[in-house]
Amino acid sequence: MSPTAATGASRLLADRIPLEGVGRVDVERQRSVVDALRTFLPDHCLLWREEDTRPYECDGLTIYRQLPMVVALPETEDEVARIVRICHQQQVPIVPRGAGTGLSGGALPHGRGVLLSLAKFNRILKVDPLARTALVQPGVRNLAISEAVAHLGLYYAPDPSSQIACTIGGNIAENSGGVHCLKYGLTLQNVLRVRGVTSDGAIVEIGSEAPDAAGYDLLSLVVGSEGMLVVITEATVKLVPKPLKQQVIMASFDDVEKGGDAVAAVIAAGIIPAGMEMMDKPATAAVEPFVKAGYDLDAEAILLVESDGTPEEVAEEIDRIKSVLDGSGATRIAVSNSEAERLRFWAGRKAAFPAVGRISPDYYCMDGTIPRKRLGEVLKAISTMEGKYRLRCANVFHAGDGNLHPLIMFDANDPDSVVRAEQFGFEILELSIAVGGTVTGEHGVGVEKIHQLCQQFDAATLEAFFAVRRAFDPAGLLNPGKAIPTLARCAEYGRMHVHGGALKFPELPRY
Ligand SMILES: Cc1cc2nc3c(=O)[nH]c(=O)nc-3n(C[C@H](O)[C@H](O)[C@H](O)COP(=O)(O)OP(=O)(O)OC[C@H]3O[C@@H](n4cnc5c(N)ncnc54)[C@H](O)[C@@H]3O)c2cc1C
Repeated sequence: MSPTAATGASRLLADRIPLEGVGRVDVERQRSVVDALRTFLPDHCLLWREEDTRPYECDGLTIYRQLPMVVALPETEDEVARIVRICHQQQVPIVPRGAGTGLSGGALPHGRGVLLSLAKFNRILKVDPLARTALVQPGVRNLAISEAVAHLGLYYAPDPSSQIACTIGGNIAENSGGVHCLKYGLTLQNVLRVRGVTSDGAIVEIGSEAPDAAGYDLLSLVVGSEGMLVVITEATVKLVPKPLKQQVIMASFDDVEKGGDAVAAVIAAGIIPAGMEMMDKPATAAVEPFVKAGYDLDAEAILLVESDGTPEEVAEEIDRIKSVLDGSGATRIAVSNSEAERLRFWAGRKAAFPAVGRISPDYYCMDGTIPRKRLGEVLKAISTMEGKYRLRCANVFHAGDGNLHPLIMFDANDPDSVVRAEQFGFEILELSIAVGGTVTGEHGVGVEKIHQLCQQFDAATLEAFFAVRRAFDPAGLLNPGKAIPTLARCAEYGRMHVHGGALKFPELPRY
């Protein structure tokens, strides 16, 4: 959501997110925590005055705002552990924070808690070109890893569009994806080992630099755990060789459903492109005047399909993809002829969010995942919702893995439009579940989608999630109120949203 989306936010927050401590700071509690942290943190690493904590009040989902009680900016792992131990003693919630680019409110502060910024953990500690790994601190920016190893012909593959700013700690906590994750895997497939601090201040090492790790696979639990299991203080990530050649195909379709079917056809043909992204007409119309990428403005949808490898592999794969796209009814096909042209084709897709920001005061970026074959049908339903909610929506997707990013345009200065935007977004999420998908692809659950998790999982599964959390953090101090809804909240939500006549969690009392 664009930065102007604050108006009316606290009202919405109070309606939906019953966080403790919303409102005035508990001065005594604040003093007690600050006094304890001051014993070892220098002044410049500790903020508690309102004018200093205000910049931390939200992450990329600016519709939800909450002043943290205290912001701590440690510089060493020992300091992180000591902060966590003090919070444990005083039963104070901790919200880890990377760059704050998250789009689901995962790093939204807690009003009675410490916002633990890892911004000062910004060093690449070691690069091993033979093992093709990098040992990094969590506050290192995603793109900074690739920049640091470019001279070795290597790079870090997962590439969220926010990669210039977002940190590897945030990427691990969200299991972030990007254009090239279709072929190279999400963050989970590109992280080997994580070191971190548990909620009682113990240091743990999870995973291994070897291909397999002994014991339970805790790495798979920690990746994507949204700051609720450990505070990550170090990570070993994989590096991959830069491909010798990359080329991208831009294909036009006169119908979005045909575009969606073409995506499914490419995968069905046994091709895993390096990236496969789709944009609908409202998205290309927003982008083209901004970036001049050369997009076909008559097309109902355009598909960008990238191939990488040796020149021979790329030539062969491009031919195969072209023939599948032809067979799927593409009305125009262009192949990049130079690196400059390839970057120009991608520049439009990468600038889709800011481009929409130019034509609407605010936009709300949804994130849901659906089976590829249902893409066309879901797009048609979203277009019907535009009429129902009286709001425009541009669609961009990581089409290869069915990850939708509808950009709902609204005006944050109009509270009614804010509510309609939220409801529009929630209906898209519920539709994603109904067609066999999930409520999140890569942006996490945070506070934004916590209710939809009640739709997606039954009580027994949610209880299993809580059991995992309790095993790491019995007191529930790490990032409370995010990612996993309590059954009581699901009961309330189920009462509000009865789908198909079925009351969710009927066994629980309604209040
Ligand atoms: C314009 C734009 C484009 C985006 N494009 C993509 C995209 O293509 N793909 C994608 O996946 N995401 C995308 N995002 C979302 C966001 O950038 C990612 O979720 C990113 O991984 C967040 O990283 P961060 O450092 O900003 O983390 P934050 O926003 O600071 O935190 C995110 C979560 O991680 C936790 N966390 C952060 N650091 C730590 C740590 N050291 N230990 C434990 N927990 C921690 C926080 O508590 C929070 O739950 C986009 C965002 C924007 C604004």
